[in-house]
Order: sequence, then structure tokens, then C-alpha cells
Amino acid sequence: MSRIQIEGLTRRFGSGNHAVNAVDGISLDVADGEFLVLLGPSGCGKSTLLRMIAGLTPPTGGRILLDGRDITAAEPRERNLAMVFQSYALYPHLTVAKNIGFPLRTRRRKDVDAKVTEVAKALGLEQLLDRRPRALSGGQRQRVALGRALVRDPGAFLLDEPLSNLDATLRTATRAELTDLHRRLRSTFVYVTHDQIEAMTMATRIAVLNGGRLEQVGTPEEVYDAPASTFVAGFIGSPAIGLLPAEVRGADGELRAVGDGVDMPLGPGHDASGREVLVGARPEHLRIGTGAVGPEWRGTVRLVENLGGEEVAHVTVGGGRVALRGPRPLGLAVGDAVRLTCDPDRIHLFCATSGRRLVRTPEPRRAAVAV
Ligand code: ADP
Ligand code: MG
Repeated sequence: MSRIQIEGLTRRFGSGNHAVNAVDGISLDVADGEFLVLLGPSGCGKSTLLRMIAGLTPPTGGRILLDGRDITAAEPRERNLAMVFQSYALYPHLTVAKNIGFPLRTRRRKDVDAKVTEVAKALGLEQLLDRRPRALSGGQRQRVALGRALVRDPGAFLLDEPLSNLDATLRTATRAELTDLHRRLRSTFVYVTHDQIEAMTMATRIAVLNGGRLEQVGTPEEVYDAPASTFVAGFIGSPAIGLLPAEVRGADGELRAVGDGVDMPLGPGHDASGREVLVGARPEHLRIGTGAVGPEWRGTVRLVENLGGEEVAHVTVGGGRVALRGPRPLGLAVGDAVRLTCDPDRIHLFCATSGRRLVRTPEPRRAAVAV
């Protein structure tokens, strides 16, 4: 069982003008039994962060605590954490059984066979124990790599894009298997991916990284429903959230976001009058406007995509572009002029300069009216 605390962790590569902070002062507290996903685009520092936790890359600043113990300078062996990589790195000349048992044999453990049988059973590999890796499918190899991590009973699992070599169908199936495995083992998982679907479906919490820094940490619901920045809003969700420039006008209670093709009432509680903002709405929250007036984005349909059960319409509004998703058929065709509306509660507002979310202040309580 393992709690992993990271305090101001930094890793600089190179020196002088060429120096980059691959990881730049990240703090995170991973509770025992969590499935924490490190999510972000390629090059944002995910692998470097995971390798520092594993002890494979020394940090240039900050601390790592494992169950309260400072392990920043400890050898990988002393950490009892198991790492699984994207490339399975199985020994090609060894059978599945020998591959799984390898970490135990190097530690001269006596219960190797019993342990290998137990792990093979948990991963559905019993029938494959005598095969060599080349006679296995990609998914089976990935399970052997997991088995090799599992057999050690590690305090936590560190996984770096373990599914990215699998085809789409297998990836979906293995995702479900991993979630199930986590539920049964109840141990701590730290899982690196650039795939927002993997993050949303498997994580108990997601840490979104951008350029070596932490943008937001939260449950899948929190990062999707209340993204802390335009970066998080745009990275999670497909098709992406529509974001359009506007200025907030009006007095408190009557605020509107007004821009090119944009005129949306914001509801009460925004302390943003006079600000340049980005107004955001997710594709599933936009509706085709009916009636004469109302909150709206006005634009032209550029593309309609059939997803089977649903359709997505891509609409240009002013200089920007937004997507609308709904049951098929939406009843829109390319070239249509369209008015889109959105419930004010579903609108996201971000500062146009910093990209940070503008948080709604709680509605002031109305004074009791004397009768
Ligand atoms: P991710 O896993 O999110 O794709 P990485 O942690 O691998 O990102 O890399 C983060 C940044 O650090 C990248 O800019 C990468 O080029 C740089 N980097 C990673 N490892 C090294 C290294 N050993 N030497 C120099 N730069 C590195
Ligand atoms: Mg990586």
C-alpha cells in the first residue's frame, strides 16, 4: 500500500541557454489506492515525472515521499514500485512463465512457481505459460508485462502509455481489464497517457500537465465540467469545446458576453464586467436556437459528421469555430445559417489573457422580504 507525495519536483535537462525544465515544480499527493492519470500532450514531462517517482531519473529539485518516507535519493530497488512501459521489453528467449517469474528469481524468492500461477490466473494467461513472446498477440504481451510487475506485489504500479502499441479494439478491452485489476488489487496506480479517453475512463483523479507544469488536478468530472484553463478545456473532450472571444458587458445580474457572432447572457454571479474573455460551450450543451430572441452564437454550418447514433455539426462563428453534437439527424446542412443557444449554467468563461477560468461568485443571498 502506498501514498506517493511529490513536493516541488523539478527536472532540468541541459545547461545554459539550452536548459529546459522538463518537469517544473510539480506538487501532487497521490492517495493510497488511487488510480492517478498523468495526462498531457507529447513532451509535457509525463515520462520524466514517472521516471523520477520510479527512481530512474534523479530530480534536480524537490522531494518524493513514499508513505511519508523521503525516497528522493533512494535506489529504484528500495522503492518497491513496479514500472510498466509502452514497449513490453519481454525476454524473447524466455517463456511466459519465466518472463513473469523473472523479478522473483533475481530476488532469489522460493515461491516463484506458486506466485507465477496466481498472477497468470489473475490475468488470464494460464494457457500461455509455455509460449515465447513472439507467439503472443500485442495484448497478450502487454498482459505478460503487467504480470511481471504484478508478481512482485509492489506498493504501487507506474505505467507509461502501456496501451499505445495496441490496436483500437484491444485498447478498449485492455482498458476495462486494467480498471478491473485496479478494483481487485486496491493498490496505487500512476498511469501516464496522452489519450483523454483513457484518462476519463480509468482515473480516479486526473493530473493535467502542460509544458512541465500542472494545469489542474481533479476527478474526471471536475476536469471535464469545470476546466481550470482553456488548455484543460481544449485538451479534454471530443469534439473539442468551442471557445470564442468576447467582451463582458453590462451591470451585475445582467451581464452579457458580446463578440463577433456572440451574444450570450451569463447569469448572475460573474465579477467580470469590461473583461476580455473566451466564452466556451461543450458540443453536447449547444442547441439549435428556435424563436426570435435569446442567448446565441450566430454562424454558418461548415461540416456535418455522421457518428452513427449522433451527428456533429461544425459551425463557424465570427473568426472562430464551434461544434454542436446531438441525436441524428440534427436537421442541418452545409451552408445553413444557424443560431446556437446554451443554458447559461453550461457556459465556461476564461480570461482572454491568462486563459484561467473565471469562477462565478456565489449568488448573494436575498434579504428576507418583510410582509
Ligand atoms: P512526455 O512523456 O510527456 O512526452 P518527456 O517527459 O519524455 O515528455 O519529455 C519532456 C521534455 O523533456 C521534452 O522536451 C523532452 O525532449 C525532454 N527530455 C526528456 N528526456 C530528456 C533527456 N534525457 N535529455 C534531454 N531532454 C530530455
Ligand atoms: Mg512519454
